[in-house]
Amino acid sequence: MSIRNIVIEPDPILRKKSESLYQVTNDTRKLLDDMLETMYDAPGIGLAANQIGSLHRVLVMDCGSRDDEETPRPIKIINPEITGVSEELSSYEEGCLSIPEQFAEVDRPAVVRVKYLDENGQKHERLFEGLEATCVQHEIDHLDGILFVDHLSNLKRNMLMKKLKKYLKERDEDDAHD
Ligand code: ZN
Repeated sequence: MSIRNIVIEPDPILRKKSESLYQVTNDTRKLLDDMLETMYDAPGIGLAANQIGSLHRVLVMDCGSRDDEETPRPIKIINPEITGVSEELSSYEEGCLSIPEQFAEVDRPAVVRVKYLDENGQKHERLFEGLEATCVQHEIDHLDGILFVDHLSNLKRNMLMKKLKKYLKERDEDDAHD
């Protein structure tokens, strides 16, 4: 396994639609393992393949468990497709490893049903609720070239992107002084 570089907005690959896999291979499993290691290192709770420069339609996530935050609960998802959403919405303050240190409340369906393949090519269809529902929708958005800021009003999005530019500039200046 290896930690890969995370792509930062406005890299154009974040706006590309990912392509479904015809079959799950050792290369796919290696990609998923690298993505998990990269996500845990960041640290984050979800990562889509285009965030490390691959256009395969795969994502990883680990929102932990409610009773024991320390137990890892990684989920590896290949070719996800949302097959149902609840009318009820929930709101979470979202962030993104590709938009570092910027956060905003986003409304999304509280429960979603997702069809996908696991790392052994087995078919699954299951419900995601709570933080997992938000996380899986955020990551599937990535695979379709959509970022969480796209769900905000123009005003909020522009403010956040301005703050991101400032943050990245200051971070690069700090790096230059090291
Ligand atoms: Zn993200």
